[in-house]
Amino acid sequence: MSGEEMPDLVVHNIGQLATASPDGEWNLQLSKDGYVIIDGEMIVEVGEGEPPAARDALDAGGRAVVPAFSDPHTHAVFGAWRAQEFDLRLRGADYKNILAGGGGILETVAATRAKSADELASSLHEHLDVMLSCGVLTCEVKSGYGLDREHELKMLEVVSRVDSEHPVELIPTFMGAHAVPPEWGDDADGFIREMVLPLMDEVAGRGLVEYADVFCEPGVFTADQSRTVLRAAREAGLQGRIHADEMEPSGGTQLAADMNCASADHLLAAPEEELRGLRDAGVTAVLLPGTAFMLQKPYAQARWMIDAGLTVALGTDFNPGSCPIIDIKLIMALGATQMSMTPAETLVAVTRNAARSLGRTDRGVIAPGFRGDLLVLEAPDYLHLVYRPGAPLVRQVIQGGRPIYERGVDVTYAYRTTGEEGER
Ligand SMILES: [Zn+2]
Repeated sequence: MSGEEMPDLVVHNIGQLATASPDGEWNLQLSKDGYVIIDGEMIVEVGEGEPPAARDALDAGGRAVVPAFSDPHTHAVFGAWRAQEFDLRLRGADYKNILAGGGGILETVAATRAKSADELASSLHEHLDVMLSCGVLTCEVKSGYGLDREHELKMLEVVSRVDSEHPVELIPTFMGAHAVPPEWGDDADGFIREMVLPLMDEVAGRGLVEYADVFCEPGVFTADQSRTVLRAAREAGLQGRIHADEMEPSGGTQLAADMNCASADHLLAAPEEELRGLRDAGVTAVLLPGTAFMLQKPYAQARWMIDAGLTVALGTDFNPGSCPIIDIKLIMALGATQMSMTPAETLVAVTRNAARSLGRTDRGVIAPGFRGDLLVLEAPDYLHLVYRPGAPLVRQVIQGGRPIYERGVDVTYAYRTTGEEGER
């Protein structure tokens, strides 16, 4: 306990506390009339009934409290939106034709190269403000719209800088192997050998990234090329993530198992026997139903995966092309309505499982020994998260025992600007 005997904060009068258990079960632990005691940044006690005293008290007013969310897959640094392309696609344009005309991801690459670091940082701040208001406190962010040394470094330096400025914790991933940029023509091997691999060593050596990702898909990078990237990542001390079997099966899911990746993502077209391999290798399946929704495609087989014993997490895939959805709560609703996940499973998927796939085993669960990262919902029951998609249901965000956001009240990161410990 800090200084005095009393812990720092009690969150009390919790109408419903809903959390994943610390172990691997999918069932939620639900309790009524509860309280949570936080000392320093960590939860020290969770109970029901009359709470013990603490230096500060936060009355949840009978509302539901859940762990803060983690988003395990985003492309949140980008130079411009692509609303026109969305319009074209809705009217039947084919993505390959859009790409051939210089649109698609190449348009984002050009726009991201053209923006200054300050401009990219300012737009990332805006995105993170929205994510925070949706209850996200931990967010993975990939590079991969620079696709040359100068602009990939610019993206990653922006992530590092904004991570130190904004309360949402960013987990940086190097994704130099996102696409082959126009100046390399169709020389994917040359691009990997001469650009991706040396730059990966550099950014890993500088501590700018925690993970490396590769887009394994026919017409982008083959399974063999992806293996080269993930093997080099491992040698550079980075664990792998992979965009696998999004459009058609091409060996990416098997590769994720072979390479012991932290996660295999998308998996819309993943064969069942390869998914069993993921399970046996302990790789988290990160599913991104927002992308299927926006592209009007069939969803990944979440129900089958959970029944087969896979660890499943949900993420937004937030990006200006295939999925501009930023709200992880909407992703939970898609998981429940479109992929037959139970509401409880969607909550576990965006809390404990998402955090673990990012190597953050200290969060995503409300139990002693975990970080005091909590959400007070504007609802009496966590079910409202999936039952009322689109409603702004996050009333308060508590990070490491500090209330840092309240809906409609400008208290966001007050503690960072004052720099005063203990000021609430
Ligand atoms: Zn992605």
